[in-house]
Amino acid sequence: MFSPPDTVAECHNLIDNLSRPANGARKSVVSPYFGRPIATLAASTPEDVEAAVHAAAKAGAAWRTRPLRERAQLLGRLRSLLAERSDEVARCAALESGKTEAEARAGLERGLEVVDFAMSLQAMELGGALDVSRGVRCETRREPLGVVVGITPFNFPAMVPLWMMPIAVCMGNTFILKPSDKVPMTANLLGHFAAQAGFPPGVFSVVHGDQHTVEALVDHAAVQAVAFVGSTPVAQSVYARAALQGKRALCLGGAKNHLIVAPDADLQLTVRAAYDSFTGCAGQRCMAGSVLVTIGEAPELVQGIIDLASRCRLGESMGALIDAAARERLLGAIDRAQAEGARVLYDGRRMAPPEPYKGGYWLGPTIIDGVSPHSECATRELFGPILSIVRVGTLEEALALEQQSPYGNATSVFTQSGAVARRVAEQATSGMIGVNVGVPVPRDPFSFGGSKRSKFGHGDITGTSAVEFWTERKKVTSKWALQSDQSWIS
Ligand code: NAD
Repeated sequence: MFSPPDTVAECHNLIDNLSRPANGARKSVVSPYFGRPIATLAASTPEDVEAAVHAAAKAGAAWRTRPLRERAQLLGRLRSLLAERSDEVARCAALESGKTEAEARAGLERGLEVVDFAMSLQAMELGGALDVSRGVRCETRREPLGVVVGITPFNFPAMVPLWMMPIAVCMGNTFILKPSDKVPMTANLLGHFAAQAGFPPGVFSVVHGDQHTVEALVDHAAVQAVAFVGSTPVAQSVYARAALQGKRALCLGGAKNHLIVAPDADLQLTVRAAYDSFTGCAGQRCMAGSVLVTIGEAPELVQGIIDLASRCRLGESMGALIDAAARERLLGAIDRAQAEGARVLYDGRRMAPPEPYKGGYWLGPTIIDGVSPHSECATRELFGPILSIVRVGTLEEALALEQQSPYGNATSVFTQSGAVARRVAEQATSGMIGVNVGVPVPRDPFSFGGSKRSKFGHGDITGTSAVEFWTERKKVTSKWALQSDQSWIS
């Protein structure tokens, strides 16, 4: 169990491996567990952004020329430090984001997998060369882009920065992280460990701030590429802003994920997977399955999920919501669903956390049945531990619901039939499909990314697709002697 920290920490920017106070508006960082400030931070002004970009640009000249193997070795040292200090990182991430410690640790471990993948790039042939004609050879060189930026959300304070930074810097870029201003402390830990691991000054900077800081970063002439993970409206606006300036951008947004359950699904497996999917991280995951689409009535499935919900203990098996506004938003959505005639089968509003956490932001698992397929609960991202149940008669109806969703992050199907699984994999419109898996996160070298309004830009944020995003392919065509038997291309 957490205790509220005695002191309120100051979160400074990290530029040139040094802690530097930013000069913009100040705000408190509040722990969702207690509803009390645990840190303060100042937003970065355009001048603060200039300092970070300047440091990154200066570092880039030498960093890009170091062999990939050397860059990967530094990542290896960072990996070891993060693994050794994983308790500290997980506790920090949990305290500021509201996750349980186990969830925060799992997020870090997933981030370390991306570090492993980045380190493995030293052993991969990333370019390619071919004799294309007599005496003429074509070669692809993968070159870093230069100064690149990552803007990350509150819900995975360690993992999402680690989706981006390791591959970006391993490929020779210098990277500036703008973490969510709700969870700045874990980002600073990552920055401090990178400095301790021997990252040269300017290779990895952390710049705190808000919308204005993001805009200053995206608009800076020296910034070459922007990766963003957060809500759909902001993802779309950051993407548009970067694209208008001809910059490379990949912006991942929100989600509304469907769990489609066929009548032949394995009951135990499906109950567990559906419950874990909508309650993990208190439902604050872009991969949370929040609409349960049952083909048929499925009373045993629903009862099984209710039984698991009744065993949930806030503050132990489930964490907190990020802030008071999130709680208000969720309570409003439940009220509106009831007003429209849906039935609350399990009411998480009645669940209370243990005494020390009373000031925090809590909602237990909430299961709503009889949800209209076009209602707010069935179509909008709620981002909390709410499962909306929609019943359909056929697989075609279930697929039609999925296809109508504006989002396209993840869709899971639960079935014993290979034909049904294959049909969903082919027909569903999401970028990530699960078969009997409630949170179908692809692991490296497979790439993570959705479709439709869950992603703006091309490619994915991790895996081999990320190598493509963080590099430019330069094509070199060369000839070393005049050929006697020239063709038109020689
Ligand atoms: P958010 O969009 O509010 O914030 C994300 C980042 O953008 C933060 O760094 C924030 O400071 C910054 N920001 C906020 N408003 C801005 C603005 N107007 N202009 C520029 N920058 C701005 O998202 P959040 O609430 O921190 O995170 C939750 C959202 O992220 C959910 O919608 C969730 O689905 C999504 N998410 C998506 C993925 C994915 O892989 N698709 C992963 C994690 C989270």
